[in-house]
Amino acid sequence: MFPPVLPNPDNISSGFESSDYVGRFAPSPTGPLHEGSLLCALASYLDAKAHNGQWLLRIEDLDPPREIPGADRLIIESLRAHGLLWDGTVVYQSDRLHAYQEALDTLQQLELVYRCICRRADLALSGGAYPGHCRESNHDGSAPHALRLKVGNFVAGFTDGIQGPIREPLPDSCGDFIIRRKDLLFSYQLAVSVDDGAQNISHVVRGIDLMESTGRQIYTLQTLGYTPPAYAHIPVLVDQNGDKLSKQTGATAIDNSQAIHNLMTALERLQQPQPPKSERGSAQSILQFAAHHWSLPSRAAFIKL
Ligand code: GLU
Ligand code: ZN
Repeated sequence: MFPPVLPNPDNISSGFESSDYVGRFAPSPTGPLHEGSLLCALASYLDAKAHNGQWLLRIEDLDPPREIPGADRLIIESLRAHGLLWDGTVVYQSDRLHAYQEALDTLQQLELVYRCICRRADLALSGGAYPGHCRESNHDGSAPHALRLKVGNFVAGFTDGIQGPIREPLPDSCGDFIIRRKDLLFSYQLAVSVDDGAQNISHVVRGIDLMESTGRQIYTLQTLGYTPPAYAHIPVLVDQNGDKLSKQTGATAIDNSQAIHNLMTALERLQQPQPPKSERGSAQSILQFAAHHWSLPSRAAFIKL
C-alpha cells in the first residue's frame, strides 16, 4: 500500500477545477498498451470523469519508423477491455497533416521559422539547448534541413497539478526547437500543440517523462493563439532496475482478460482508495467508484513495479 496522500500545497491554483473540462489520452502506436501507459490512460480518464469532463482519444501516428502496424487496434482493444471509453471519434494525427501545415505556414508568416542543416553529431558537442547556429544563416533549402521555431527569450511558467510551480526558460532548456524534421515529418511538439489547441483540450494528465516537452508546447500553443491547458504530470512506472517502463524497452502488453486486477493495481499505484468488494464486479463499477473518489496522486519521483 502507498502512504496516505499528503496535501500538495503547490497545487492550489492548478486550474483543475474547471467545468469545461476536455481531457485526452494520446498514445503513439509504437506498441500495445502496457502497465505504464495504462496508468496514464487511467489517470487522465479519471481526472476527466471526476470533473464531468470529456475524455478524447488521439492516436499519435506521425512517426512511421517508430510505429508497429496494428498497435493502434491493440491499444483501443485494451482501453475497451478496461472500460476506458472515450468521447467522440478517435482522432489519428496522420489525418491531420493539413492542420500541421497550416500551423507551420502561420509560424512562417510570423517569421519565427528557419532552416537548420546541423547534423545530430555536430549538436551533440554543444550539449543541451540548440545554440542557434543556423538562425541567421538563411540556408537556401537545397540541402536536407529541419525547420526550427525561434523561442526568443520565452519563459514558460505553469503550475503543474502534481509537481507544483514550474518555470522553464526555453533558451536554456531547449533553444529553438524542431517543428518539421529533416525527413519532412512534422515534429511531436508541433502536432501535439496544434491538436491540443484545436481540440480545446483544457487539461492534460500524462507521464512525467513528458514534462520536459511542456514548455515548448505552451510556447507553441500561445504563439498560435491558443490558451494552453492545465497540466498534471504523474510519476512514471519503473522496473526493478529503475528504468522507465516503455514500449521501446519491450514492456509487455497488458492482459485484457485481467482487467479488474489491472485496474485495482493501477489505482493503488495512483494512490487511490481501493473500491470495496461490492464495487469490484466489473471494470465499469470500479471506474465509477474511482472517479467518484479521485484526487491527483501526490508528488513522487517514480512508481516501482
Ligand atoms: N504520444 C505521446 C506518447 O505516447 C504522448 C503525447 C502526450 O500525452 O502529450 O509518448
Ligand atoms: Zn542548425
